Amino acid sequence: MPSHAMNTLRRKVAGSATQKLTAARAAQATKITETGFMEWALRVPEPKAGTLDFDRFPFQRELYEESGEREIVVKKATQIGVSAYLIRWSLFYADTRGWSVLYIFPTAKQLFDHSDARVQPLIDNTEYLRGRVPRTRVQNKGLKGVGLGLVYFRGSEQKRALDSVDADAIAFDEYDTLTQENLPDAERRVSGSEHGLIRRVGVPSVPDFGVSASYERSDQRRWLTKCEGCNEWQPVDFWKNVDQEQMRVVCWACRKPLPVENGHWVASYPDRDIRGYHAPRLIVPRIARNENGALEAIVRESQKRKPYEITVFHNKDLAEDYAPAEGRLTLQVIQAAQTAGGGYEMESSYTGSGLVTMGVDVASTRNLNVRISEHLREGVKRALWIGEVTSFDRVADLIRQYRVNMCAIDSLPEHRLAMGLAEQFAGTVYLVSYSAPLQGPVMTVDEGLRLAKVRRTEAIDATFQQIREQRNWLPTDLPRGYPEQLTSLVRHVTVDDTDKVVVSYKATGPHDYAQAEVYDMVAGELWLWRTAVDAELQSELRPLEDMLEFERSALSDESVGYTPGPSLHEGFAEDELDEEEFGAYD
Ligand SMILES: [Zn+2]
Repeated sequence: MPSHAMNTLRRKVAGSATQKLTAARAAQATKITETGFMEWALRVPEPKAGTLDFDRFPFQRELYEESGEREIVVKKATQIGVSAYLIRWSLFYADTRGWSVLYIFPTAKQLFDHSDARVQPLIDNTEYLRGRVPRTRVQNKGLKGVGLGLVYFRGSEQKRALDSVDADAIAFDEYDTLTQENLPDAERRVSGSEHGLIRRVGVPSVPDFGVSASYERSDQRRWLTKCEGCNEWQPVDFWKNVDQEQMRVVCWACRKPLPVENGHWVASYPDRDIRGYHAPRLIVPRIARNENGALEAIVRESQKRKPYEITVFHNKDLAEDYAPAEGRLTLQVIQAAQTAGGGYEMESSYTGSGLVTMGVDVASTRNLNVRISEHLREGVKRALWIGEVTSFDRVADLIRQYRVNMCAIDSLPEHRLAMGLAEQFAGTVYLVSYSAPLQGPVMTVDEGLRLAKVRRTEAIDATFQQIREQRNWLPTDLPRGYPEQLTSLVRHVTVDDTDKVVVSYKATGPHDYAQAEVYDMVAGELWLWRTAVDAELQSELRPLEDMLEFERSALSDESVGYTPGPSLHEGFAEDELDEEEFGAYD
């Protein structure tokens, strides 16, 4: 059965179940379906802390006063109570409107922990909700029947699990750490619904990415406060509004204390459809007043100088994106790599006797990005050809045409076709997959599976370092899109909930050519590995990575506690389990 027919069927089944339920509770349902979010939320206290307290978090009131706006984005700092909002929002629409709501978290494992820590206690501790989540209906960590509807809990990494759900509303939590390539699919889950509500909530990371990019497209609401001294309306800006002598938030004009509790949300682009909120920590009144040294702590954060500390301050305190200049390639660097090559054009074939490597990024069977290199001397190569081809057969032609000695090809999403190529060119073509973060050496090779596993962050670091040092020469006739795709990957260094430094690359746009470059770099590494194997020297050699591109690029800026890889996907962001947030509603 085609998947759309399957989905229609599911929708019908779900629909008829809802109808029976509605009939059975007609009287009750009529009233409940008219309940507003605010009224409902006030009936659902926070475990240990009690009813929502808007004196503590006045800026949250407007979030609860919504009336079914199609799309809302919250770009937030940590520890400001917003995560609790998103859970309530999901339960509310299921309970009162009988909708199917999809709640998405970075990974299924995190989600189940989150469900245990946050969702279930909310239900258990609320008399009202206990009655709405009866044991007679389906109740597990991935699915809860709430009132008239259902809430599906899904990890963003599970593409198949996402595809199996049709929903009326979708809540994205921890937006920047979600598996971004699955988000368009997830959004299609609500495209068939007449409601189709979307909420995106998260701490920003790098510019043009994730929650920050979403906020840019929104009406951009900021929390503005009127100074009681000089009547100036103003947002709270760390650099302008924090008086470090008085240690409190003041008016930027007359320096009188600024009562942020009296603020209002004001849109910068009121005619835009998407509603967006920017919520830094300074708009929390008790922080603005420096109660318990809360503001002083933020000032201390602002004075730290390690790269990841600067990022953490911008992202988690100010709720601003941040990327240092050295965090991405620039067009100037790419031009310099062209100049280093002496201004040559691409070759249509290769007849020389040098080492030739090739990297292939696979987006689909018909969309393959290729980079072919001639290696000139140790650590220096030049591009023979860079371009796009539309079939694996064409890749095979290129291998012959350019006398490729070693080719590294993306193992996904066309594993079978990539494997076919590896078997056709045994010993010349290897599949590449990215290994689990934090595990093992930077590269391991499984000869039987014709598979190399590499750590993603280090591989991209090494590739970019080679370009920066002008050891990867580029032709003057680069294909369309190449420079943009090389500059779209942005390095992000932050700390996780256990204060461990984590490094990852965020894609702010298409980056297929950047991936092709990475695979070509891996092909070079594979050639060295192969040479070592053939010479039967590998057991006596120093660890292979000492002589590889990976090692050359070793970046020293986070040497202590450096834990590379996209491990932002592991563990909670610190606010999720923070006492502060529970204490929000006392
Ligand atoms: Zn003033």
